[in-house]
Amino acid sequence: MINEALIQEIESSSLPAALKIITDLYPGDVVFSSSLGQEDQVITDVIYKNDLPVKVFTIDTGRLFNETYELLERTTARYKKTMQIYFPESSDVEDFVVNKGINGFYESVENRKSCCFVRKVKPLNRALNGAKVWITGLRAEQSDNRKEMPMIEWSEERQLYKFNPLIRWSYDDMLDYLNKFNVPYSRLHDKGFISIGCAPCTRAIEPGEDARAGRWWWETSQKECGLHSATPVEHIRN
Ligand code: SF4
Repeated sequence: MINEALIQEIESSSLPAALKIITDLYPGDVVFSSSLGQEDQVITDVIYKNDLPVKVFTIDTGRLFNETYELLERTTARYKKTMQIYFPESSDVEDFVVNKGINGFYESVENRKSCCFVRKVKPLNRALNGAKVWITGLRAEQSDNRKEMPMIEWSEERQLYKFNPLIRWSYDDMLDYLNKFNVPYSRLHDKGFISIGCAPCTRAIEPGEDARAGRWWWETSQKECGLHSATPVEHIRN
């Protein structure tokens, strides 16, 4: 059980120590969802280097950049670990394509959310099934709706703790870590891509633009795919 005292201890611990506290508390029941973004590569580095008992997984939507697959290969080669890969249900994808078109997500927010639900949210739900703690690489700076996120929160709907160990890290903190430990990262980051998702839905950003401005750039609504906003989450502590 995670209580206020433990939260304080975790918040004042280094990243490796914080992850160790969580895995000691819930051995075998901790999972980490990686999109292979820079933040996620930091966490992957800590988990793999310290041999922590965490299921590390990623979701292959079928529409990822080649650079993302190439990074996946480099990461598994570097750490000699296997990352679990979840795929969408083929029948869901077929239904979407038949009814909305191969790139139907450009036509409406509803279509886009439907595609994200089929290709991302449903595989995520399978990956989280049975877990007691879900580690994410979210940072508060990334977007307005992440600003108020606490480091640890309880999801009533999913019945698990969501642990955001980098929530207070700055972009520079993250870059410092990647450089210091020579952690592999996507070559797209060197071409102006900051937040990277599916290839047809991600573009590079201009200097001064919001970090997530390159995601679903044709939309003006909130830039979320539903992975972190679909379920109501009760904040244990703000
Ligand atoms: Fe579909 Fe684009 Fe969402 Fe990927 S990001 S699941 S291609 S709508």
